[in-house]
Amino acid sequence: MKHGTLLRVIASHNLWVECRACGHGAELRVSELLELTCADAAVRDILPRLKCTRCRQKQIGDVRILSPDVSSNHHVARQPAEQHGVLEDEGFTADGPHDGVAR
Ligand SMILES: [Zn+2]
Repeated sequence: MKHGTLLRVIASHNLWVECRACGHGAELRVSELLELTCADAAVRDILPRLKCTRCRQKQIGDVRILSPDVSSNHHVARQPAEQHGVLEDEGFTADGPHDGVAR
């Protein structure tokens, strides 16, 4: 995929990110990533800030943009508890919003 893709262009999509260190993967909502960065950030800008919550490494492996049109979207709607908080609980955390971006 193109890591130069702007996050706001794919704001309704999810991003599948895999950890190269432990192989752990997680689905992140692009809309949440956008809140951690500036409006003009591209995928490649957010990747260095992501940290695996399992092994705490910052080695991002495979990254894929998941289309919101695929059937998995229905899944998400039916399982809000599982999908909510993925960013903190079992996915990747992004380094703090300390670069001038207000929460
Ligand atoms: Zn990991």
